Amino acid sequence: AAARSVQAQQAAEQAAAALTAEVLEREVGRRRNFAIISHPDAGKTTMTEKLLLYGGAIHEAGEVKARKSSRSATSDWMELEKQRGISITSTALTFEYSGCQLNLLDTPGHQDFSEDTYRTLAAADNAVLLVDGAKGIEPQTRKLFAVARLRGLPVFTFVNKMDRPALNGFEIVEQLEKEFGLQSYPVNWPIGSGDRFMGVYHRPSKKVILYEKRGQAGRSRGASVKAAYDLDDPELPGLVEGDLWEQLREEVELLEVLGDELDLEGVMAGKVTPVFFGSAMNNFGVELFLQTFIQLAAKPGPAPTRSGVAVSPTSPNFTGLVFKLQANMDPKHRDKVAFVRVVSGKFEKGMKVRVARSGRTVTLAAPQRMFANERQTVHEGFAGDVIGLTNPGAFAIGDTLVTGPLLAFPPIPTFSPELFAYLRCPPNQKKPFLKGVEGLLGEGAVQVLYSTDEYITDPVLAAVGQLQFEVVQYRMKDEYGVDTTLEPLPYCVARWMAAGGGWERLEGLGRLFGTTVMKDVYGRPVLLFRNEFALQQVLGEHADKLGELSPFA
Ligand code: GDP
Repeated sequence: AAARSVQAQQAAEQAAAALTAEVLEREVGRRRNFAIISHPDAGKTTMTEKLLLYGGAIHEAGEVKARKSSRSATSDWMELEKQRGISITSTALTFEYSGCQLNLLDTPGHQDFSEDTYRTLAAADNAVLLVDGAKGIEPQTRKLFAVARLRGLPVFTFVNKMDRPALNGFEIVEQLEKEFGLQSYPVNWPIGSGDRFMGVYHRPSKKVILYEKRGQAGRSRGASVKAAYDLDDPELPGLVEGDLWEQLREEVELLEVLGDELDLEGVMAGKVTPVFFGSAMNNFGVELFLQTFIQLAAKPGPAPTRSGVAVSPTSPNFTGLVFKLQANMDPKHRDKVAFVRVVSGKFEKGMKVRVARSGRTVTLAAPQRMFANERQTVHEGFAGDVIGLTNPGAFAIGDTLVTGPLLAFPPIPTFSPELFAYLRCPPNQKKPFLKGVEGLLGEGAVQVLYSTDEYITDPVLAAVGQLQFEVVQYRMKDEYGVDTTLEPLPYCVARWMAAGGGWERLEGLGRLFGTTVMKDVYGRPVLLFRNEFALQQVLGEHADKLGELSPFA
């Protein structure tokens, strides 16, 4: 009888393991995680809203924006955010579509983005490049794209605002190629733009989908679609204005010549981008995009660790990566939230994990996520999900959380700062000042450099966006009680010397025009240049001595 019960128990355990494996396969297989990269005003908020609309997460467009502003009236996590009327917070929005769970990592679209924006991309599996059809590729897109490229993310391009006069489709395709080295695979193709925007030709189905401008149509799920016709439907030429019809026939042929097979491997490698045209505001082309996106987008995949061994997303052991810390989201509690991307296994509320860096065991209580725009308690999560954990000071950016054997994911890269300023404090506040600098540095709020002159002890803040300075000053006052002042420095390019590079190489170079040398927190030299030109000049004259220079620490 005893043997039988052991057998029965073993069978039960096996069955449970098989069930877990099945659940993991299923859940990971239906996850799609992505971040939108765009220049401010390209339509990210509008697009997000429409995506949530299809996800059934909200019922009327305008809700995201309305909540954006009502949130700032009620639970703004920072006074600064209120003053500026912008959202510094970047989290993940979750919605369901056609059996898939989509996690949209929200990168702040404001001009003053910060390193957080970049870090968010470290937790994304796919990038959606949102382009204003009239403006084409803009500066902020370039910066963010560089990060997506660094990570080899698949890129999906949505050309927005086709209801406004726009560049020709081929001009966009050319920009993607020239600027980003991306081959385009247009999934749909625009017919006219602006007042003469007639719709799109959907290549996979060979159908022409006609657009109908309808005052309020964009506000609900009902898209501004008038009708769909086969390309060879005899009625069609009568429905598309003469010259646009001719143009479409020509362009469709041209597209076929350029290639009618989608190179899926190229998409996965971030070399080929499926391109879509539409109008987020008018809710045209968004669902076509979504349908193709869930089919082609990368699912959560294996993640390399520092030892070189990859972790499978369906491994039974939970692992997660802390990619962002945020303080004071709720001023009543002055809490800190650590955002974790689940990399493998199953996350469960209340589970105990170890932090790889410190070896500490932490209970993951009160996990949260954003479903549409509501904060919700999370009970479980799988690879690709983002979970907010109230952070008792246990977590740092880049931390790996594990339940099984200790392992660590590679560090999240830091990004090349472009703004530099001395941070100073009144003499009698030195102590809390230093504590504050250390705290904010540890949280990754900003990078810090020091003068090579030992008499100058004030730290130099190095940031990618002006907002980072303001956040640091605000928090210095709010959390450490220190009134700081900033003294901006006239540099905008930083370069580190390649591995092993040191001070000795800098000696004997003499005075370098428009350049200064500082040291980072690890004591390594950092060259600061006034502009790109100064960098090129120094490189031209001293490349042999300096060796390779890197924009990253
Ligand atoms: P974000 O800064 O990227 O989040 O951009 P928003 O979503 O706030 O959009 C910026 C502006 O462009 C707003 O006035 C939108 O109404 C407008 N907009 C967004 N999508 C479209 C579109 O498809 N067509 C037109 N004409 N305007 C749009």
